Order: sequence, then C-alpha cells, then structure tokens
Amino acid sequence: MERPKLIREDGLRHDGRRPDELRPTRITVGVLNKASGSALVEYGGTKVLAAVYGPREIPQKHLLLPDRAIIRCRYHMLSFSTHERKSPALSRREIELSKVIREALEPVVISETFPRTAIDVFIEVINADGGTRTAAVTAASLALADAGVPMRDLVVGVAVGKVDGVLVLDVDELEDMFGEADMPVAAAPSLGLVTLLQLNGVLTREEFDSALKLALRGASQIYEKSREALRDKYMKVRVEE
Ligand code: ADP
Repeated sequence: MERPKLIREDGLRHDGRRPDELRPTRITVGVLNKASGSALVEYGGTKVLAAVYGPREIPQKHLLLPDRAIIRCRYHMLSFSTHERKSPALSRREIELSKVIREALEPVVISETFPRTAIDVFIEVINADGGTRTAAVTAASLALADAGVPMRDLVVGVAVGKVDGVLVLDVDELEDMFGEADMPVAAAPSLGLVTLLQLNGVLTREEFDSALKLALRGASQIYEKSREALRDKYMKVRVEE
C-alpha cells in the first residue's frame, strides 16, 4: 500500500478530523444479560466488547490469593475484525495485550474487598481500526463498574501519535500504519494516575510532553462520556423501578 497523505493541505487529517479531535465515540454499558457486567465501546471504526464474570470462586484454587481478588484478562480479536480473516487462536500480540490491559486495570480495582476470588475480564475486538487496546481498557473498566466491582476510579484509554510531523489524538489504523509514532495511554483521571503508557516510534522530549497532555485531554473527554453511559444505564433503571 502506498503511503497516503495523513495531514491535508488544510491542516486536517485524512478523515477530516482536527489534530486534537477524537473519532465519534459511542459507549454503552450493560449490553449483555448473562455476564456480571459488560460494555460496548466504539472509537470510530474500532468496536470493542468487554464482559466481566465475578468476583467469584474458581476451581483452580492454587491461583487465588488470601488477601485480595485476582484479575484475569483475555484480549481477543474476532476473525472478522480485520481486513483478512484473523486466526481465532490467541496470538503472541493478544497474549501480551491481555497482560498490558490487566496491568492498566489493576491499580483502580479495590481487590482487597474480595479475597480468594477471581474477576475475569473478557475482551472481544469486533472491528479493528486502530486503538483497540485503549478502547479495550475503557470497555473493561466500564464492564467492571457494571459488574459492581469496587473501583477507585474508571480507567479510560486513548492513543496519540505523530503523523506527517503533527501530534494527533485518537490514532486510527491508517495513522498507526503510516505515522512516525504512536503512543497508547490509559489514565484514571480523578486520581491523576497513568496506568498504561507505551510508545512505538520516536518522539522528542518536548513532543512527548505535548503528546501526553493531548492524551490526557482526550482521556478526560472519554471519561465524561463513560460516566454518562453509566448514568444512562443506572438512572434509567431507577426511573423504571
Ligand atoms: P492497537 O489496536 O492497540 O492500536 P496495534 O498498534 O498492535 O494495537 O495495532 C494497530 C491496528 O492494526 C489495530 O487496531 C488493527 O486495526 C490492526 N491490526 C492489529 N493486529 C492485526 C492483525 N492481526 N491483522 C490485521 N490487522 C491488525
């Protein structure tokens, strides 16, 4: 594929967004009725579903901890989520991302409340268009909240990047593929805590500082939408009751 122009003459991105603009974001909490909690998160073409079971006892007692719950996490891309059919088997990338996402969630979960239990987080990427790990963190944290798991804050994720020399918010697949750098970030905004930060590519120190600020501004916007999605579910239930 030939390298496309990522920043147009008018300064906008290939999809018409401003550099500091998120893709259209849709967040729905409680989309499944069997799992303890669930959420569907869409950042533009990226669609990620998360479901949580637990806290609950599991047969594998040797995995459990005496003072807190353990969190297990599986990130998986569905076969039809990519341009070419993806093998349904877990790839090395998916195993690594499962760990990265679990570590992004652990600091906010008050796991001491449920010793000797497991909380299972299942993430399915339904459609991949860049930023699936960050959308996955947002979806998983909302699914945990929906399951009633006590948390210090929500964690939300968004990736920033550098394309044609310009720092951009919420990188899509094309920008990820052809940009100079991409930096997924997850943060718990009320705690002022960054729980995930990766950088693929090269940024100067100044660019890194600006990119992090841009990511945190984007995370705040997604945080507001996430809280709205939780309110949408739980306020409605209360009115219906
Ligand atoms: P992230 O999804 O968090 O940005 P990557 O940087 O690894 O993670 O991937 C960037 C994008 O490349 C993904 O969002 C997806 O659109 C695409 N992609 C990743 N893995 C595959 C794959 N196995 N097959 C096809 N496309 C993929």
